[in-house]
Amino acid sequence: MNEKKRILTGIRPTGKLHLGHYFGAVCNWVKLQNEYHSFFEIADVQGLTDNFSNPEKIRINVREVTIDLLSLGINPEISTIFIQSTIPEIAELTVFYSNLVTMSRLYRNPTVKTEIKQKKELFGNSGESVTYGFVGYPVSQAADITAFEGACVPVGEDQLPLIEQTREIVHKFNSIYGDTLMMPEPVLSNNPRIKGLDGNEKMGKSLGNAIYLSDSKEEIEKKIMGAVTDPNKIKKDDPANPEVCMVYYYHQLLNNQNLETVCTECKQGKRGCVACKKELIQVMMEFLKPIKEKRHYYESHPEEVDQILKDGNKKARAISKQVMEKVKKNMQIDYFEQEQ
Ligand code: ATP
Ligand code: MG
Repeated sequence: MNEKKRILTGIRPTGKLHLGHYFGAVCNWVKLQNEYHSFFEIADVQGLTDNFSNPEKIRINVREVTIDLLSLGINPEISTIFIQSTIPEIAELTVFYSNLVTMSRLYRNPTVKTEIKQKKELFGNSGESVTYGFVGYPVSQAADITAFEGACVPVGEDQLPLIEQTREIVHKFNSIYGDTLMMPEPVLSNNPRIKGLDGNEKMGKSLGNAIYLSDSKEEIEKKIMGAVTDPNKIKKDDPANPEVCMVYYYHQLLNNQNLETVCTECKQGKRGCVACKKELIQVMMEFLKPIKEKRHYYESHPEEVDQILKDGNKKARAISKQVMEKVKKNMQIDYFEQEQ
């Protein structure tokens, strides 16, 4: 049992989870938890980097995201869910690692670059939105992973440059202070990047283009009815190209039974977009039914959710303390035999 490798991955409590999270990352986590010791971090400190003036949003979503993970099949009997801010070693490691990264390297990180660009598009060109903490969050993410000796980091494609940054930090740390930190490997799911309803390359919590697992039928209807379809299809019986249609894109993820028919009918002009959207709504509601039932259970048992988090925090902290002992020893900042 102890030979199993450890997984560390995280999710920012910046909003409830959506289909992009499920198909892009969490469905893989659910499978992997049987093969690995799995640690799922609710990254509240990272969430605060670009939500520092809205602490309530982060606080509420710590519970919401935990409930979403449990509803999607993360099993607290075998996996650990914990809150980032309860692990002080992560903050300490972040400070140590910050000496090993240049500012220009952080600005060149493609994920940071894209996210800064998106923020400017959403909130205007105010330089204020890009803080030192935000630009530095890849460093804190390196601390998240290494504090638990995460060997595998299952993430969506948008996170790959961040794992690369962690690997560089680990390499530099180990070459200066001796072999100390575990070198992590990213693991991608089969659908590493799920597009948004608006056709954006990524469905994102902060992008306003997502279908949430907790959305009501009415909300889902409204969103799907407004999804982007082939712009060249004007009339109901025009033939269309499913490859450029977001409705077909979601049929591909969800509609295992009728996918071929959807595709051929669309190409032949035998299916109108409205009917196609209605079918997708039905398939999606069926997919979400058991998830919503579990969600309802945990919503009405908040004490159970809290206990899962408390147990998880304790389990995670025991590991980060051990890692910190090794780190301080090798950095020669372990001044006294048994500190505290
Ligand atoms: P935010 O916009 O606040 O950063 P987010 O939607 O990007 O939120 P995160 O908490 O940053 O969500 O990401 C959690 C995990 O889900 C990561 O592994 C990320 O790669 C994955 N993920 C998020 N959105 C998608 C998507 N559209 N496709 C594939 N994976 C995704
Ligand atoms: Mg993100």
